[in-house]
Amino acid sequence: MKTFHILTFGCQMNYADSARIRAVLQHCGFSYEEDIKKADIVIFETCSVRQKSEDKITGKLKEIRPDQKVWITWCMIQHNFRSRRLLKSVTSDEWQVPSQFQQWNFFGSLMSQKPTIVWLTNSELELLDTRNSILDTVFVNHAFNPLFHILQKKWRNLELFRRIDDTWFLPLMLERLWYKVNYEWEFINEYEKIIPESITSMNMHTSTAYVPISTGCNQFCAYCIVPYARGLEKYFPVEQVVKECEYHIKHWAKEIVLLGQIVNKHPQFVEIIKKILALKDESSVDCPKGLKPCLTRNDGRGLKRLRYTSPYPTYFSKELLALHGKEEKLCPHIHMPLQSGSDAVLKRMFRWYSVTDAKKFIDDVRKLKRDISITTDIIIWFPGETEKDFEQTLKFVEHGRFDMIYMGIYSSRPGTLAQKKYPDDVSREVKRERWNRLNEVLKRISRENNEKEIGNIHEMLVNEIKMENGKRSTGNGIQLIGYTDNMKQITCNIQRVTRNVWDFVKVKIIKWAEFKLSWEMLP
Ligand code: SF4
Repeated sequence: MKTFHILTFGCQMNYADSARIRAVLQHCGFSYEEDIKKADIVIFETCSVRQKSEDKITGKLKEIRPDQKVWITWCMIQHNFRSRRLLKSVTSDEWQVPSQFQQWNFFGSLMSQKPTIVWLTNSELELLDTRNSILDTVFVNHAFNPLFHILQKKWRNLELFRRIDDTWFLPLMLERLWYKVNYEWEFINEYEKIIPESITSMNMHTSTAYVPISTGCNQFCAYCIVPYARGLEKYFPVEQVVKECEYHIKHWAKEIVLLGQIVNKHPQFVEIIKKILALKDESSVDCPKGLKPCLTRNDGRGLKRLRYTSPYPTYFSKELLALHGKEEKLCPHIHMPLQSGSDAVLKRMFRWYSVTDAKKFIDDVRKLKRDISITTDIIIWFPGETEKDFEQTLKFVEHGRFDMIYMGIYSSRPGTLAQKKYPDDVSREVKRERWNRLNEVLKRISRENNEKEIGNIHEMLVNEIKMENGKRSTGNGIQLIGYTDNMKQITCNIQRVTRNVWDFVKVKIIKWAEFKLSWEMLP
């Protein structure tokens, strides 16, 4: 039995995708190997959002032994791909592939007697019955990706490039690579219907399940590669999302994070939230071995937190805000990715809201009966951002009183509208000066916000236990790190480990710092 290991880079969406790939491969008879060094195949689930992410992946590739196979998937592939379309309709009785598509490619040329490699759109693939017809055809969306050939010169063990959308016909690709695969077609033929049995988490525990409710994005913000890397929007059916959440809750997930590039644009987003909140835990499934400690304190069963990411400012409905105001399990945290406090910059970014809209939204959140923490994203020195534009952003930040700002210094990404339209001619050093100024404002606001938390009681999910010298029981210098329900990082130095990662712990805030709270445990 072949073993595989997945290295996941980037956002929560990639972690959710990794869990699906894992489910498909296990279903096909492969086995997951926790130790990367022992795996036959190492899968890179890549991120392309910044050049730095791509460099990191290329660096990691160097660590893979030549006798291990490498598969690379997702954003980096999609982003570097130049699409070509099949010219002749695939619906005709005898369809033909135009000659420019009948090229050799990395595995078709080696494995098939008469390889015909075509690039098909999703809708074209849907029209095709790949089970019975064209047996000598390998369907690969990236057969012509020049990146593959460049990388394969360096890494001869590179075996497969693929997109997440291709997950449903991954078994067909593997057959072409001479892997022995056994699978039931029904299990894999629709990406969104795959319910991963195991959670691939960004944390050191598996209490948090990432559940995608949509993929892709139609917004085409000028700076963003997502619509090119992940394709256009596709929404998953409500029943499917709820079924997946129910499965995870039954299997001891205590926190669910709904995912989508614009998660709140799903037309039935509020319905999904209501249905998940109404789910009962009727689990008869045994608590997984590693989760046993929580059972002893009776805090282990059922959903405790529901979160979602990443929203778009204009798609928050009144009903959604009302739910935040009253539903205890829906976390009191809203991320509102503003990007800039200047209307002129927002317009150039193709963000379809105004500063006045954003201010009104924040005021509406503050009117809710519950304290909601608000975080945001700001891009610093988007091309053409003047000093006046930047000052408007600082002014907005004062109004927003954000608990955290995820600040990114603008860097041009190939293929985006901004890269084609606006010159990025300001040096990083100059841009950094604005970053520092914004950071100073953020630090002060964070201090002021956190000071008000003293004496408050929160429930913290322990994500990490840091020990001195790697030992758990020395009694000194042990640090518990986690997040409150309003997404504030919280830490505590303790003498003895009495809690575990994945535990929920009731705490009282006793100290604060910038971006961080400290706590004492309540009995
Ligand atoms: S909304 Fe804009 S920034 Fe967000 S994923 Fe879509 S294109 Fe990118």
